[in-house]
Amino acid sequence: MRNATDALACLQENGYRITTTRQAVNDVLYRLKGPFTIEELSDALPGIGRATAFRTVRLFQDLGIICRVNLEDGSARYQLASTGEHHHHFICTECGVVTEFIDAHIDQAVNRQAQGANFELNAHTIDLYGIGSCCSKKCSTNS
Ligand SMILES: [Zn+2]
Ligand SMILES: [Zn+2]
Ligand SMILES: [Zn+2]
Repeated sequence: MRNATDALACLQENGYRITTTRQAVNDVLYRLKGPFTIEELSDALPGIGRATAFRTVRLFQDLGIICRVNLEDGSARYQLASTGEHHHHFICTECGVVTEFIDAHIDQAVNRQAQGANFELNAHTIDLYGIGSCCSKKCSTNS
């Protein structure tokens, strides 16, 4: 298994060929669909070590195939990106459903702030937490 891990790392440095590991991870991604933890992904891939699974996830993340979502408690979830474009997330704190949205105005504002602060911006993420329509109660009591 060590060799497979090393070979995968080497492949990543030299290009993005389809390996059996990547193929297996890819299959599971489409099977899991919703936000998953690295542990859940790893459990669904009994033949693949957690480190390898993590590395493959990282590559997929860099390529924009999947998104990393940070939950309120600081733990990370991953899910397939619905778009290859840069986007932001609504995260339902009740059920964990992640919805994506694109807003060029937000990104312009972020870039303006960075420029104003002489900050060389490499990337940013915006995760919004709350109760999604998936979980909001229709007959809510007055609060
Ligand atoms: Zn996303
Ligand atoms: Zn943005
Ligand atoms: Zn929800």
